[in-house]
Amino acid sequence: MTKKVYVTTEELIDNMNRNGSLDMINHMLLNAASRNETVNIYAVPRGGIPASYLYAKYFKSVNYKFVDKMDETVDIIIDDLIDSGNTIELIKNMYPDNNLEVAVLINKQTDVKYKNKWIVFPWEKGIGCEESSADDIVIRMLEYIGENPSREGLLETPKRVLKAWDEWFEGYKYSDSDIKKMLKVFEDGAEGVRNELVIVADIPFTSFCEHHIAMFEGVVSIGYISNGKILGLSKFARLTKVFASRLQVQERLTSQIAQALVENLSEDVMVVCDKTTHSCMCSRGARTYGTNTITSSIHGRFKDNMALRAEFLSLIGRK
Ligand SMILES: [Zn+2]
Repeated sequence: MTKKVYVTTEELIDNMNRNGSLDMINHMLLNAASRNETVNIYAVPRGGIPASYLYAKYFKSVNYKFVDKMDETVDIIIDDLIDSGNTIELIKNMYPDNNLEVAVLINKQTDVKYKNKWIVFPWEKGIGCEESSADDIVIRMLEYIGENPSREGLLETPKRVLKAWDEWFEGYKYSDSDIKKMLKVFEDGAEGVRNELVIVADIPFTSFCEHHIAMFEGVVSIGYISNGKILGLSKFARLTKVFASRLQVQERLTSQIAQALVENLSEDVMVVCDKTTHSCMCSRGARTYGTNTITSSIHGRFKDNMALRAEFLSLIGRK
């Protein structure tokens, strides 16, 4: 799970000094002042606004103006946080002639200590506000589609959405070593099971595509050659669930399941994922129904033994 980090005002002031953004602004302000010009600053909603207050406290000149909209006159953008950097890139591309400078308190792309953390700013805490930053995003999305988040039916929706997300994406809680423990193999009672093809067919799964966060579902079928180790059958379903409960693409889901089995169970593994329905494909965009995307991940003896592969496919009813 993403770790929540509460940043203090002192830390943010330290950041703006350390990352050079305050110096950059003051340099521009003093330069402009010597030419009797005004620097236009645009604070990106919403976090850029409190961030601007913090910056402005240390400005060395008063020849600046905060403008309410992004246009050709803007010289500096201030924001609290750069996550992926996409928003800033988008703005820069829209105004290529502005020579825009960007000042941010935290840039996750370059400040490694904030990487993969959930940042809570001082202005996101306090009465009625504490821990609410993730709820806020759901509320904003409801507003984005034209809904009224304060009508009765939607009041509890943000909380419910976050709860559902916790469940849908619980796969992030499992580390590689958790998976290793989960796949602890039995050798007891499996002594005779050598060079035998073991198959678990049609394990159903539900996952979410990482491009649209839209649900996709299907089944996973696993075949492996036992080399004296076997695995409880329920483990295959659990393993599938761990990887499916993350943002995925079908190809990677298939290969991650296979890879974990190769590392912990047997070198000879074949995984097929099919009978899939991708809701992002059927409910939007191309609106294609009835397609079946098939992915497979093939390892060890399955790779060059066509007869073995054919036997596996026929036993799972795919031939
Ligand atoms: Zn998608």
